[in-house]
Amino acid sequence: MRIEYEVKLGFKDVMIRPKRSTLKSRAMVDLNRTYLFRHAQKTWTGTPVIAANMDTVGTFAMAEELSRYGLLTAVHKHYTMDEWSRFLENRKAAIFNHIMVSSGTSDEDFSKLKEILRCHPGIEFICIDVANGYTEYFVDFVKKARQTFPDKVIAAGNVVTGEMVEELVLAGADMIKVGIGPGSVCTTRVKTGVGYPQLSAIIECADAAHGLKGLIIADGGCTCPGDVAKAFGAGADFVMLGGMFAGHDECGGEVMDINGDRCVEFYGMSSSTAMEKYSGGVAEYRASEGKTVIVPYRGGVESTVQDILGGIRSTCTYVGAAKLKELAKRTTFIRTAEQENRTFR
Ligand code: 5GP
Repeated sequence: MRIEYEVKLGFKDVMIRPKRSTLKSRAMVDLNRTYLFRHAQKTWTGTPVIAANMDTVGTFAMAEELSRYGLLTAVHKHYTMDEWSRFLENRKAAIFNHIMVSSGTSDEDFSKLKEILRCHPGIEFICIDVANGYTEYFVDFVKKARQTFPDKVIAAGNVVTGEMVEELVLAGADMIKVGIGPGSVCTTRVKTGVGYPQLSAIIECADAAHGLKGLIIADGGCTCPGDVAKAFGAGADFVMLGGMFAGHDECGGEVMDINGDRCVEFYGMSSSTAMEKYSGGVAEYRASEGKTVIVPYRGGVESTVQDILGGIRSTCTYVGAAKLKELAKRTTFIRTAEQENRTFR
């Protein structure tokens, strides 16, 4: 046994220090980024925020709406081939640049991934997603995916430490998904004791990835636009959101009336709700590592997108970053013991 004494930080442990700025208004801030992907050797331009590949977030309706703002959606892996075909029928370019096809690492997942990309070769992004990206099997799967799809952009995760980021980049991933345990409906830290505070994970993993011309997706733990800005400030290239996009029309859940309040169900993809829906229950050898919650119904996602992007633009004006690209360079985090004033919460 060993103990690391260096303090690791989450979003709640820091604030961004304001800096002298020449920017007059947040309207002057450009949130688009252009990235070149190391293996796929392709460039992409857009606003690097991604809706998570959860079946109550990463839906086709979400992809449709978010693509209008240049955001990405990691479409969940439970759509059928027919549903994919119907969604992509008669489409030309724009949507293909803003969706990721998600896959697990089973043989069945891989066959379906191949089939989706065979039928819809215009799709550029693959998101290989497992709860624990530390296994040799996972690294081999990423290698296999890279050999099979040499020119697709591959995101793979989740991990939280630099050495595993490097291994996955070298195995063929263009982007590494970072986050174990910070998610809004995740119970991994409770069930297993495993995890890593997300801000430190982002800082350390971004450093490792960028050294190899890889990119990272900060996945999980953002509770407000300020957290998204902190993730970018810490060096994230993309930020993936689940809970912040939950509860909207585009999520597809049934709107319920609970004591006069309109609500929607939201659950983790390893929750017993999801496992019962897709795998016929929680297997005997494992515990569910996700929870099911009821969240307020929030209408269309458009106003939430504007709230998030408006927040990041404002962060940029506070530190003098005319472009999102400059935010990390201009960020100084200060360690804090306070955040929001909650008198009227
Ligand atoms: P959020 O933005 O809601 O804080 O985090 C979203 C992320 O939580 C997802 O992208 C995914 O990585 C993670 N996640 C989703 N469902 C589960 C789950 O059931 N268990 C765990 N451990 N993580 C989950």
